Formats: sequence, C-alpha cells, structure tokens
Amino acid sequence: MNLSVLFNQYKEQSLFGRYITLLEIEPLINQYGKKTAVQNIGKSVLGKPIYQLELGTGKTKIFIWSQMHGNESTTTKALFDFLNLLNSNSEIAKTLLRKFTFCCLPIVNPDGATLYTRENANKVDLNRDSQTLTQPESQLLREVFERFKPQYCFNLHDQRTIFGLENNHNTATVSFLSPAYNEAREINDVRMKAINVISAMNDTLQQYIPQHIGRFEDSFNINCIGDTFQSLNTPTVLFEAGHFPEDYHREETRKYIFMALVAGCQFLSESESVSNRLLDYLNIPQNKVCFYDFVYKNVKINYDNTEIITNFAAQYKEELVDGQLCFNAYIVDIGDLEGFTGHYEYDAQKAMYWDGRQNVPQLGQKANFTLTNNVKIVNGLIKI
Ligand SMILES: [Zn+2]
Repeated sequence: MNLSVLFNQYKEQSLFGRYITLLEIEPLINQYGKKTAVQNIGKSVLGKPIYQLELGTGKTKIFIWSQMHGNESTTTKALFDFLNLLNSNSEIAKTLLRKFTFCCLPIVNPDGATLYTRENANKVDLNRDSQTLTQPESQLLREVFERFKPQYCFNLHDQRTIFGLENNHNTATVSFLSPAYNEAREINDVRMKAINVISAMNDTLQQYIPQHIGRFEDSFNINCIGDTFQSLNTPTVLFEAGHFPEDYHREETRKYIFMALVAGCQFLSESESVSNRLLDYLNIPQNKVCFYDFVYKNVKINYDNTEIITNFAAQYKEELVDGQLCFNAYIVDIGDLEGFTGHYEYDAQKAMYWDGRQNVPQLGQKANFTLTNNVKIVNGLIKI
C-alpha cells in the first residue's frame, strides 16, 4: 500500500497551518456518521468542551489524544486525516475497525489551543500534571484512560524546530519515544510493546522520509503522562511531529504522522506478540538540539569598540496577533555556534551589522537589520 496516495485521498482539506482550535474541528466532529460516537466529556478551565470520539468494534483498544499542549496542532491535523480514513468505507477502514476500538481526544487543551500556548488557561503544563491531576483537563484524560482501559496509548505532540538527529544532522521530522516507567529506565514487557510499535512505524517511515526519524530522550519524569501510563502497565507511544525543511506550517510533517498512525495500527493488527525490536529501536538516532531557524555567519560587529567577526542566530517565536498566528524572528544566540546549523543560513562575508541603532546584535531583539553589502534582513530573511 502506498501511504502517500492514501494520505492524499483522506487528508482533511479544511485543516491547514499551525493554529488549530475547536472552531476548526467542531464542524468536522459534527459531520461524522453513526460509525463514530461523539461525546462531550467535560469542560476546560474556561468552559470549553472536550470531545471524545470513539469508533471501531475490535478487541485491541487504542487511546489517542492530541493537543494536550495547545500550540501543538500538527498531530491533530494528522488525527483528522486518520479519522477520515477510518470513517470511509474502504477495506482498510473495515479491517482497522474490526481489529481495533479507537478512543480519541483530538484537543485535550482547547483553551491553550485558542490562546496558542503550551499550557492550559491556568498556565499549567498538563504534561507535568499527571500525578497531582490539579487541572480539569488532566482529570478528564485520566478518567477516559481508566474507563476505556486501553491496550495501547498514542500520546501526540509537536517538537520545536531546534531538533535534529545525532548521527547526520538532518531535521528530526518525526520522533518517537517509548517512555521510561522508572528511574532506572529499565525495559519491561510493557515498554517493549511500545518499542515494537515504534520500530515498525520507523520501518515504514524510512521508506518515505529516510534519515529524518529520531528517538526522543527517555529521562524519567513520572509527572509526564506517558511515563505515568507506562508505569500503569499500558504501553504508550510518544509521537513528536517536528520540522521538515521549509515546512513551518507542518503540512508535510502531518503526512508522516498520518503514515505512522496507519503503520502502527497495521503492525498491531498483524504481528503484535512475536517481536522484540529493541535493537532496531535503539538504532533510531537520538534527537539532538542542533538547529536554529536562522544562522548568520561571518558578520562584522562592533563589540566594546572592537570590530570582530562572529556568527549569530535567530529563532521564530509563534505569536498570536489579532487572532492570526505570526512567525516573528528574534535574535537568540551570538558566538561561534559550533554544532549548530540554520534551517536558513546566510554568509555575510564580513559585512558590518547595523540595526539602525548599533553595530552589535542584542539577544531578544527582532531579527531586522542591514549589512554593509547592501543586504537588508527583515524578520530573519533577506528582503529583495
Ligand atoms: Zn508537547
């Protein structure tokens, strides 16, 4: 099966870009037919509904949630692409719905989605609240987990553009983790089950996007939802949707998350019990922080009345302005930047920096400046 073709067939066209809220997903949820049971299971801090979609009749139960971090929407788009597939009358949909029962919370943190924040409206990171359960959203997620009693959990997130891979410095377009369940990061049968799913998804993704799949680091934190569910003996897979070159809207990455969901389910429907894929899993290169959005090299600056040649970096901040998501570039690092690559790089060839006030870039200021070779940089990019 060609998963690219499948994606194009079932991609939810109404969802685009990074700013995905209940306004975008409610019309989709409301149009599902009988196959999908839609329930409003409770309210966020600001009183917004949290939706649960349940479909399938199979004995293997998979609990999938997305956007527990409000500004991490790529996987939500992919989840709706996947739901379109499941709600089709295709053979693959019939097979999946016969083998599995899916329970999905497409936006766990609807307030954070609207505000475009990682945290909920009380400024709590829900992915650090899985033990104390202080927030209504965390409590609802836990209630569904306890009622549904899944055999597998898929925990869907986005990761920042800073992540590449340790071995080849490619962007980490998709990363996975089978979270630790204890401080010693041991591997038991539960964790191994998630490892096997990840290895299978990696096999598939390598065919479509070779050398861009990473493994997230597995330091143990029981306050994280994945670590908690793994410690409660439910195999849990962390998905991290990351950067694909020049794809800041994450429309390309969305496709690979869709593919991973399909591949993971296919694996579980075919060969769950037999494997031990630990070595394959460990062979997936680890994530490494090695990117900035912008790197400017060989720039002359005037530091303490001395002219020096240096490099500096800028990074997009995603900022909500009048309901529109803007990517604004700010200067974040100055120095040799060894080990870092820019998604966008410019070699100033010793041209002098000038931002209208001074000849030295300041951390935190917007990446708007000129260089003496008549190059003007506006919001990180060369203005022609
Ligand atoms: Zn996240």
